[in-house]
Amino acid sequence: MKLRNIYLVLISLLFISWNSAGPKYPTDYFELPLNRSVLLSGTFGELRPGHFHSGIDIKSLKGTSGEIVSASAQGFIARIKVAPGGYGNAIYIAHPNGYTTVYAHLDHFDETVAAYVKEKQYELKKFSVDLYPKPTQFQLNKGQLIGYMGNSGSSSAPHLHFEIRRTSGQVPINPFLFGLQVTDKVRPDIGKLQVYYLSEDLKQIDVREYPLLRTASGRYTIADTLSEGAWRVGFALKTTDKMDGAPNRNGIYELQMQVDDDPRFSFALNEVPFSKTRYLNAHIDYAARQKKKGYYHRCFKLPGNALDIYSRYKNNGVVKLYSNQSQKVSIEVNDINGNISTVTFFIKRDADMSASQIPAAEFSADNEGSLSITKSNFKCTIGTGALYAQTGIDYRTEKSGQNHYSALHHIGSENIPLHKYISISIKPEDLPSALRDKAFVGRLDEEVITNYGGKYSNGYFTASVREFGNYTIEVDTTSPMIKPIQFSSKMQGASRMRFSITDNMPIGGKARGLRYNAHVDGKWILMEYDAKKDMLTHRFDERISTGDHEIVLKVRDDRGNVAEFRRTFTR
Ligand SMILES: [Zn+2]
Repeated sequence: MKLRNIYLVLISLLFISWNSAGPKYPTDYFELPLNRSVLLSGTFGELRPGHFHSGIDIKSLKGTSGEIVSASAQGFIARIKVAPGGYGNAIYIAHPNGYTTVYAHLDHFDETVAAYVKEKQYELKKFSVDLYPKPTQFQLNKGQLIGYMGNSGSSSAPHLHFEIRRTSGQVPINPFLFGLQVTDKVRPDIGKLQVYYLSEDLKQIDVREYPLLRTASGRYTIADTLSEGAWRVGFALKTTDKMDGAPNRNGIYELQMQVDDDPRFSFALNEVPFSKTRYLNAHIDYAARQKKKGYYHRCFKLPGNALDIYSRYKNNGVVKLYSNQSQKVSIEVNDINGNISTVTFFIKRDADMSASQIPAAEFSADNEGSLSITKSNFKCTIGTGALYAQTGIDYRTEKSGQNHYSALHHIGSENIPLHKYISISIKPEDLPSALRDKAFVGRLDEEVITNYGGKYSNGYFTASVREFGNYTIEVDTTSPMIKPIQFSSKMQGASRMRFSITDNMPIGGKARGLRYNAHVDGKWILMEYDAKKDMLTHRFDERISTGDHEIVLKVRDDRGNVAEFRRTFTR
């Protein structure tokens, strides 16, 4: 063989191996950030509301905060974020190999980091900070203490949320691809199968739900051949994974579907960039989730789904049915440790096709087009890429109850997912001009009104929303509530003071949550805000000396209603 040909062969071999195996990750670089074996309450790619879980959740040993969290590898602290929700207290460590590790929901930081953060909070006069220290400031060795496990931010119990990201682009990657290990010999659990009747342009016509028969460990089936009145169908599986020693239902890693032993659809949860994580709403059966039936993984890809987790096969997993020939469908589900479960069943087309009528809707739009709806006192604009597939959208209106300053406008269905914000404009009726500043676009769901904010212009209130449903105009003239939880005029010996702050209604869309500030003797003081507990906490330090003081705490809601708490106290 000529040298040139050898080079060509080598180059194509390299290309093939990269293509089939995907990028390689270093498997001996990172260690778990806890100095013990761990149990997980969440896996990478697990299905969560509006996103794929971007890391692993490590359970605390005894259900309490305070366990030591250490650096997964050598590096430096590149970012420190403090927020009342989300990741709470979070540390980001950049490593010289091009990856970043993230440690979230920490109870508190290591002493030197905590002092730096507090200084910045006083400098910026803000509790929520997003800091990027110089690379030389906090250099860390592998295993060095960085903070303590906790429950800060949007966390429902003490745990450590741990991520590994590619530093460039901050793309979260499955941490178990880096050689980290958790004992797991339990096979994934497969709950139910759903079959969707699909039109040629993949509009959903009907859906059927089937319980599965477990015939052996990891083996599931449906006894009878499915006979469906549809030209083409898609499938979805409700499936989760348990691990050794923990009751938690975590996410699966991989799914592969074959029809008559021919690969038709597969996905693997290796990487999900934040820019695409909301496509979860297209990956799952959103309507089933809305109806509280849990998370179903679709085994076919909707046209507007831009996730990169799928392999490309003909028809994207959509299966044509034949009346004279039943096909064998086999769906295999894997966890990251290679435990496998499989469901196998047969399906054919039924002679009765009466269920295959596309339901009529007043409007229709798909993922590529846009749609503007104009009705009496109501407008709605759905932009390109807001929907995931060809979708029927209905509109109707009815009189609304008292306290509403417009009719109730029903647009679409709460079972239809929206990827992007759409705009809703409603013309207020009989709204006194003095109340205009306090009026908002509200979404009514089971008697509860949610404030979606909105601006008044040209006779209409316009708000951005990412849910279809029932919208109306309402006003909010009620101030937030401030309730002292740990406070009295005699604070001698107290380590902290606490106040609960609450509002009269929930917010959605782009409406703003409660904003607050606290001053003692006219000077700004740090109040840590835990949004899930509605709690403000000030920890006393040398900034407030012994003696008499006055505290002023102000809280403001989205519509500018203000509450004030003003008292004197002795420390
Ligand atoms: Zn998590």
